[in-house]
Amino acid sequence: SMDLVTFGESMALFTSARTLPLQYENQYFRQMAGAESNVAIGVSRLGHSVGWFSKLGNDPFGEFIYKTMQGEGVDVSRCQYSNEAPTGLFFKEKRNAGDVRIYYYRQHSAASMLQPYDLDEDYMKRARYLHITGITPALSKSCRETVFAAIEIASSNGVKIVFDPNLRLKLWAEDEAKRVLSDIAGKSDIILPGIDEGMFLTGENTREAIAARLSKDGKTVIMKLGKEGAFYQNANENGAVSGFAVQEVVDPVGAGDGFSAGIISGLLRDEPLSMVVKRANAIGALVVGVNGDSEGLPKNEEVERFMSRSSSVQD
Ligand code: ATP
Repeated sequence: SMDLVTFGESMALFTSARTLPLQYENQYFRQMAGAESNVAIGVSRLGHSVGWFSKLGNDPFGEFIYKTMQGEGVDVSRCQYSNEAPTGLFFKEKRNAGDVRIYYYRQHSAASMLQPYDLDEDYMKRARYLHITGITPALSKSCRETVFAAIEIASSNGVKIVFDPNLRLKLWAEDEAKRVLSDIAGKSDIILPGIDEGMFLTGENTREAIAARLSKDGKTVIMKLGKEGAFYQNANENGAVSGFAVQEVVDPVGAGDGFSAGIISGLLRDEPLSMVVKRANAIGALVVGVNGDSEGLPKNEEVERFMSRSSSVQD
C-alpha cells in the first residue's frame, strides 16, 4: 500500500538572475515547479510513501524533473515520456521588487496530453489519499477528463480525495473555472481553498459562511488565511488556528503546497484536526522563509523543532 498518490504537470522554471526586463537577461536559475510534485515531495520528506506521475517530454527537462522526484524518494514508476510533446517551461521576470511576472511555455506540453487511459487503477487504489489540484483540469480537455476519471477510481476504491482548488485564471475563463472546480469540490472529501478561492467558489464573504457551504455532505474544509493561519470545519467541529510568526518572508510561493503536505501527513497520522492544521501552519511558515517552491519543505524533526521554539502569532 501507499500513503498518497498525486499527478499533474511539473515544469522547469527559469528565474531571472537579476531585476530587469527579461529581454535583457542572460542568466537564469533553474528550478522545478509544480503544485502536485511539491506536495509529493513535502509528504515524502515527512516520512510517508508517495507516488507521483505525469507525462514528461522526452527531453533534458523531463529527465531533470524525473530524477528530482526520484531523488526525493517519490515513486515515479507510473511516469511516462512522450516523444510527441515537450516538457512545459516557464520564466520568472523580476522587473522590480514589487513587479514579478510569469511567462508560460506550457501549451501543448507533454503533461497537457495526459488522458484517462494513462491512469493505472490497480496502482492508484493502493493509496490512502489522492491529491488533486484545480490546475490540472485547466490544462486541456483530456487533463480534465483524467481528473474526473481519477476521482472515480478513488471514490470507488475508498481512497480519500484531497482537493486544492489552486485557481489559475491565466489558464481558463472564470465561469468555466467556477463550474468545474465546484464540481470537483463536490466530489472531494477534504477541500483546501485559500479564502479568496472560497469566496470565488461559494459567493460568500465570511470564513464561517464559506466553510459552512463547502463542508456540506460530511466534507472537511480547511481554509488558508496567509499569515493568520487557517480555519477548519467538518460535520463535528470548527475553529481557527493561528499561524506561526516568520522572521522574514523570503518567497511566499509554495506555502499552500507545504500546507497541503502538512494536512495530508497529519491525516495519515490520525491526529486531531486542530493539531493537523497547526502542523500544516508550521510547514507553510517554514516554506515562506526559504527561496523556491519546494526547497523549504521540512522533515519531521525540523517541524517539531520549529513548533517547540515558536509561539503562534496571536498567542
Ligand atoms: P500559495 O502562494 O502557495 O498559493 P496559498 O495562497 O495557497 O499559497 P497561503 O494562505 O498564502 O496559501 O499560505 C498557506 C499557509 O502557509 C497559511 O495558511 C499559513 O499557515 C502559512 N503561511 C503563509 N504565509 C505566511 C506568513 N507570512 N507567515 C506565517 N505563515 C504563513
